Amino acid sequence: MPTAVMWFRRDLRLADNPALRAAVDAGSDGVLPLFVLDPALWGPAGPSRRAYLSASLADLGPRVAGLTLRRGNPVREVAAAARGVGAETVHVAADFGPYGSRRDTAVEAALAEHGIRLERLGSPYAVAPGRVVKADGRPYQVYTPFARAWAGHGWRTPVPPPRGVAWLSTAQRGRPETQLPGADLPAGLRLPRAGESAACARWRAYLASGIDRYAEDRDRPDLDATSHLSVHLKWGEIHPRTLLADLADFPDLPEPGRANGALIYRSELAWREFYADVLWRHPESARDYLRPEYARLGYSELGTALLAWTEGRTGYPIVDAGMRQLRSEGWMHNRVRMIVASFLVKDLHIEWQLGARHFMHWLRDGDLASNAHGWQWVAGSGTDPAPYFRVFNPVAQGRRFDPGGDYVRRYVPELAGILGSDVHEPWSLAGGPPPGYPKPIVDHAVERKVALERYESLRVGSAAHPSVREP
Ligand code: FAD
Repeated sequence: MPTAVMWFRRDLRLADNPALRAAVDAGSDGVLPLFVLDPALWGPAGPSRRAYLSASLADLGPRVAGLTLRRGNPVREVAAAARGVGAETVHVAADFGPYGSRRDTAVEAALAEHGIRLERLGSPYAVAPGRVVKADGRPYQVYTPFARAWAGHGWRTPVPPPRGVAWLSTAQRGRPETQLPGADLPAGLRLPRAGESAACARWRAYLASGIDRYAEDRDRPDLDATSHLSVHLKWGEIHPRTLLADLADFPDLPEPGRANGALIYRSELAWREFYADVLWRHPESARDYLRPEYARLGYSELGTALLAWTEGRTGYPIVDAGMRQLRSEGWMHNRVRMIVASFLVKDLHIEWQLGARHFMHWLRDGDLASNAHGWQWVAGSGTDPAPYFRVFNPVAQGRRFDPGGDYVRRYVPELAGILGSDVHEPWSLAGGPPPGYPKPIVDHAVERKVALERYESLRVGSAAHPSVREP
């Protein structure tokens, strides 16, 4: 009488879930839906991801007639759960992250001792890391050719959700290890609704009324112009394949004079896949410099500047608004992520890893690959071929991407009384910044020069840095 285990991890959905389909096919006498709360991941997750995961599991539970939740090391817990229902196979979507792939190898070995197989099918990506390679089999180092080859590689069509599944349960009501983890949020932090139906609803709404303006407005933090799907993708409440299938229904050619939002959106999904590929090939780059020479760049001793940055009290309004958005929503607009990251590394001369760690603590969509490589892109130590001379000017960026100042005023109440784009330079107002708001903790013009001198001393690329327009 075959039974199987579906071990959910970053794939908290029923639709378009090949591993779940395989579990249902293999377990004709029942499928145990299992989630293991692993202290190695739960411990460092931070309040946003913990609360979000709890809510997402609470959403999934009733849809699988009661999720079996175990706490502890998956090497022990998965084997125990599988043996408990006499399963012959455990089904997962492959994990390509440094910890996840090691863990799965260890779980596979533990299961094999009991004659149980770990079956990997699918992944959190449209194209699994390692698949997109050049004609000679070597990996792409740079995003643009990767994205082209990735689109050429293509992906499978989504699989429908299974019907009539005989779900099994080992949960004994009231036992602490079967109860969902607490979802307490720190004061002031709000999260969106979690779960597969929330993810689908958000995507449908975005397709209906947001994607048309994506190409034009996606860089504007003052407008609600992006999809906010990152948290749903992070937890696999919706799969990128589903998004790509819907995007393919959009016409290829943009309307005259307008860029194609669907195509640009697809290229943003390609960044996610590119970074997963880079991390898979260079697992050490989760914490180390992808270009090791950047470790030699002169960095500053840690002082109060890091604290001011984390608290959103640098005196640069767009930086402070971003850092406060992070704490109040567990999310930050992409353009502002770049601005605050540049400020930390190039104005405060603090190593990117400290910023990345703070992001991972607060982000609801915190994802090792996108975060570490988003940071390394800004720091200049990542995949971008020649960006070391790119130093974002926080005032110019604010004026350009938050032209009316609405984004800053939304998150920095001390500046709410300053009208228009003057809000980006409160120290220039007669009388200086309003009471309660700090003066700039550094002078951007001075620190920019310091950053360029330090980067120059590395002698990466050509000795002279070309003059470039800020992206
Ligand atoms: P949309 O603009 O609607 O984009 C759609 C989807 O495309 C996103 O949900 C995301 O999956 C993907 N995407 C878009 N831009 C990027 C990008 N630059 N890199 C990778 N994927 C992208 N994204 C995360 O999901 N988790 C992170 O931990 C993370 N950390 C980042 C750290 C830094 C320093 C930077 C610069 C970027 C980081 N990003 C991260 C990428 C990006 O900021 C977010 O994916 C995006 O802001 C999420 O909002 P959205 O879903 O509304 O994006």
